[in-house]
Amino acid sequence: MTRAMSLVPTRADALTRANNIDAKRYARTRNYLNGDVTRLSPHITHGLTHIPELLQNIQARSELTWDDKIAFEFGWREYFQHVWDRLGVDIWRQPHHPPASAYADVLPDDIRGATTGVAIIDQQIGELYRTGYLHNHARMWIASYVVHIRKVSWQTGARWMYGHLLDGDLASNTLSWQWVAGTWTGKPYLFNAENVARYAPDVDCSGSVIDTSYEMLDVMARSSTPALSPQIMADRTVEPDLFSAPPLPPTDVAQHDPAAAVWLMHPWSLHLPDDRAAVGIINTDFHAAYPWSAKRWQCVMAAMQARCASVMVGSGDELAALLARTKLTAIKTLNPHYDVLIRRVAATVLPAPRAFGNPNMLKRSFTSFWNQVRREPFPR
Ligand SMILES: Cc1cc2nc3c(=O)[nH]c(=O)nc-3n(C[C@H](O)[C@H](O)[C@H](O)COP(=O)(O)OP(=O)(O)OC[C@H]3O[C@@H](n4cnc5c(N)ncnc54)[C@H](O)[C@@H]3O)c2cc1C
Repeated sequence: MTRAMSLVPTRADALTRANNIDAKRYARTRNYLNGDVTRLSPHITHGLTHIPELLQNIQARSELTWDDKIAFEFGWREYFQHVWDRLGVDIWRQPHHPPASAYADVLPDDIRGATTGVAIIDQQIGELYRTGYLHNHARMWIASYVVHIRKVSWQTGARWMYGHLLDGDLASNTLSWQWVAGTWTGKPYLFNAENVARYAPDVDCSGSVIDTSYEMLDVMARSSTPALSPQIMADRTVEPDLFSAPPLPPTDVAQHDPAAAVWLMHPWSLHLPDDRAAVGIINTDFHAAYPWSAKRWQCVMAAMQARCASVMVGSGDELAALLARTKLTAIKTLNPHYDVLIRRVAATVLPAPRAFGNPNMLKRSFTSFWNQVRREPFPR
């Protein structure tokens, strides 16, 4: 349904995609690379829509229960947000050791250039650079290949992938890399050429390093020596640059009546619930640590400039000084530096919308989270 649609995340695109969700077809095809997935992750990440709204939209057409696949996958997103809410920056700490004793902290050139000789990896890295989007299976395969076959630390892989994704989300990305690495659950995720042949039948990985048994992959995962495919001569794909500030200049600072309430728009709340005046912020303290692709900057800045009287770019201290005399309302974000700035300058901070519960105690596994939240009636 969504293959031909644009990949620029806008509010209008979010609504079209939402209207096209067929929960039954999603459940049947979701794991296949050409399956009927929503491609809504960039919109959800940037607050152009949210899971309660999507559930409502789907339920206007067909009833959903806790057992529906799409509800379950939305649950994974809310689970990762729950963990982030409870752990903050400690989502980067690993509760278990990975299976091997040593991993590199530099991503090899053939991975960056998509010339590893493993067809699915090279194809999907090209897709990531071209579109900023990857199917869930492609993310799992790339992460597993990077960590378990090439012995690159999950932290290095996670930072690289985050930078190129349009939906890069610190919770979903960091914790999924940990899940694949085996540091979150204690069990590494491994895949072979047969698995690729099942879910991406057009891509032939025979003869490559992953054309082997799960027993052999397990031995490779525990070894500290990287394994390589036979060398092939392929054209390098150019990795796009990442930027720690938007490639566009900030606009002039608009003056607001100090008594009037104004929305504070940040990159994770690009759609606001009403049409009150708004100012946009880009906090460069955050982006110095987490740079983004030009594509992602263009989407975020276009949405902000369309909605805000001014978009301010600066460090947390600079923005706090500029915003000191405005009565601001913001939607909460857990993204570091932005969270601190918002608490400092906003008179009102509204919770980010959630569909399912957010248990007080940290749930270490998705299963225990899901078993707890599904004791409540299914959200309508
Ligand atoms: C290594 C790795 C890195 C990832 N990084 C990110 C990331 O930075 N940002 C991100 O939003 N997701 C991330 N994911 C989760 C998942 O792959 C994407 O959310 C999903 O592929 C997005 O495509 P979609 O919108 O078409 O998904 P659909 O299958 O259509 O699912 C609908 C929505 O449910 C949520 N969802 C579905 N599957 C998952 C999942 N496994 N975990 C969490 N939420 C899920 C997403 O919000 C998604 O948009 C990552 C997964 C892996 C394995």
